Amino acid sequence: MGKVVVFDHPLMSQKLSIIRDEKTGTKDFRQTINEIGTLMTYEITRDMETIEIDVKTPCGIAKCKQIKKEVVIVPILRAGLGMVEGIHVLVPTAKVGHVGLYRNEKTLQPVEYYVKLPSCITDANVLVVDPMLATGGSAIHAISALKKRNVKNINFIGIVGAPEGVKALQEAHPDVNIYLAALDEKLNEKGYIVPGLGDCGDRLFGTK
Ligand code: URA
Repeated sequence: MGKVVVFDHPLMSQKLSIIRDEKTGTKDFRQTINEIGTLMTYEITRDMETIEIDVKTPCGIAKCKQIKKEVVIVPILRAGLGMVEGIHVLVPTAKVGHVGLYRNEKTLQPVEYYVKLPSCITDANVLVVDPMLATGGSAIHAISALKKRNVKNINFIGIVGAPEGVKALQEAHPDVNIYLAALDEKLNEKGYIVPGLGDCGDRLFGTK
């Protein structure tokens, strides 16, 4: 069973108070989302398997460690894009795949419109990112799309989650670790997280 980790860190809490504030503008919102992405990456990479390597220093041979598998970031379009730069701060060599989904207005189900993945993804440490884990529909669909393509080591990274989304994602993909910076109260009738932070994509890209 994958784990559910809700980080409790003073820096993340402080930054959450910035992105939750309705008065925070696009520039600060985008910057802070990325900063939270960086902090979460620092914590999440703790769990990654390492290999020992020998490094020749000017004075001898040092036993060093490197992360064993490549890291691949898969943002779910479009809000997931907001965290990629922040993750790259600590893992600059991470390749990036993209999954684009839209919601069918009749069935309300996510429909895949774009999937482009690096070839190394099947054995990589994969970080599927979407700042909001609301109903879980997009995360479930995006992860199914990866599994269909033989991707194995999948982690979901969100910033704010709702209990409904965590439950749905765990039920659909029990092997996937879920990492969040906050677990909120509930979803409202429009599917927004309460208290949440509003529409993350609109706030990231200034589309409202
Ligand atoms: N997507 C968002 O951007 N915000 C929510 O609260 C839920 C889904």
